[in-house]
Amino acid sequence: MSTKKEIKLDFNSAWELDPAPEDTKHVSIKKQYDLFINGEFVKPNSKKYFATYNPATEEKISEIAEADEKDVDKAVKAARAAFGPWSKLSGKERGKYIYRIARLMQERAREFAVIETMEGGKPIRESRDIDIPLAANHFFYYAGWADKLEYAFPNKNPKPLGVAGQIIPWNFPLLMAAWKIAPALACGNTVVLKPAETTSLTALKLAELIRDSGLPKGVVNIITGAGKTGAAIVNHPDINKIAFTGSTDIGKLIQKSIAGTDKKLTLELGGKAANIIFEDAPIDQAVEGIINGIFFNQGHVCCAGSRLFVQESIADIVIQKLKDRMETLKVGDPMDKNTDIGAINSKEQLLKIQEYFKIGKNEGADFYQSSCSIPKKGYFIKPTLFLNTSQSHRIVQEEIFGPVLAIQTFRTIEEVIEKANNIPYGLSAGVWTDKGSKIFNLTTKLRAGIVWANTFNKFDPTSPFGGYKESGFGREGGLHGLSAYLDLK
Ligand code: ADP
Repeated sequence: MSTKKEIKLDFNSAWELDPAPEDTKHVSIKKQYDLFINGEFVKPNSKKYFATYNPATEEKISEIAEADEKDVDKAVKAARAAFGPWSKLSGKERGKYIYRIARLMQERAREFAVIETMEGGKPIRESRDIDIPLAANHFFYYAGWADKLEYAFPNKNPKPLGVAGQIIPWNFPLLMAAWKIAPALACGNTVVLKPAETTSLTALKLAELIRDSGLPKGVVNIITGAGKTGAAIVNHPDINKIAFTGSTDIGKLIQKSIAGTDKKLTLELGGKAANIIFEDAPIDQAVEGIINGIFFNQGHVCCAGSRLFVQESIADIVIQKLKDRMETLKVGDPMDKNTDIGAINSKEQLLKIQEYFKIGKNEGADFYQSSCSIPKKGYFIKPTLFLNTSQSHRIVQEEIFGPVLAIQTFRTIEEVIEKANNIPYGLSAGVWTDKGSKIFNLTTKLRAGIVWANTFNKFDPTSPFGGYKESGFGREGGLHGLSAYLDLK
């Protein structure tokens, strides 16, 4: 082992988290960030940097290095050199390193949560209580598998793939980094990861943490930049696996560009989930589920419940309760722990959502927003409903990725299954009913990778996540998530 520090594991406090991140005073953000290659921060070849902003205030936070092809090559070479020794290390030793990353992440959870909220716009309550703890839990979970791969895949002779190129989006920056890095390392791969250009900071903080953890140099490389940098990773000839989470358009592009190579690929793309409420559902609970399904993280969630199907007999009461509940939602300063809906991640995304408002109105749907006020500065959108929508509307078929819910009613189970499935996406769905038999019936017929019953947006490192159709392929999380990083005979 190349680490000088002895790894001490303290399992008694492993699940305690006390981020209490409301103030930003104790968070250190540098003015400028370089690329994390081979265990150290290095200047980009181009010497170019781009600014990153706080979407709630429009103020500049820091400058981020832009990696070009030469930097990508350097990172891939570092990952390749590290691959030999790392993959030969025993699973038990690899596991210790991954546990150490998890523990350090817990210790610094407060700082991660504040930075995630400052740069991403999400309410501090969510980054503190959901994103950061879940990210740490992914490292804990996969650390536990590192020495049990033979047991997980008996008679399959599990072997790591090599160097993984990982490209992640801006909606759950640290969590997506954890989803990608933790299973890759547990399986003995090395990594070149690129965060999205509007949310690089927690990935760079993770780079600092990884450096401090004593992980051997080159095992994880974190480079920053936009689409061009991502494409350079995808096209690098010495990458063995690409794991991408992002838009369906870029996913398709990546699939095309690696066709004919022997690179392995997993894609986690867009979604337009049906959240289905039957007349026998516990209504107040379902309304909470609808709210959480679409307004969590400003609706910047690929598995968001962005289509509501409510059974005709209870439609009036559900919609009235939904509107009443929306009035209680606080939109504004993401750093305020009472905020329910924070800032839209970027101006570009704000404009895209506003464009869908025009599209929906022109299509003839009824537009409804809560009466709350929103800050004058920063990118904010009030919680929004489109009522009286139909299956052919673009606002029903396309992913808006904002706090915007399209509502339809239905009469029969057959009708709602057909409508829920009649869409290019197939990532997730929700079913609200008192009847277990109905849940089983729907879980077998809904073409969605995840189906939640009487809940929504629940995530856990042990359960696989991924989609069908234009939502992508391959699964992350659980045992399935391991197999995506292994060569199995
Ligand atoms: P969104 O439209 O929601 O921003 P994208 O799919 O554009 O989603 O972005 C997801 C991630 O993919 C980001 O890290 C982005 O920089 C990266 N990316 C964008 N274009 C490309 C590309 N052509 N090849 C590889 N990665 C890309």
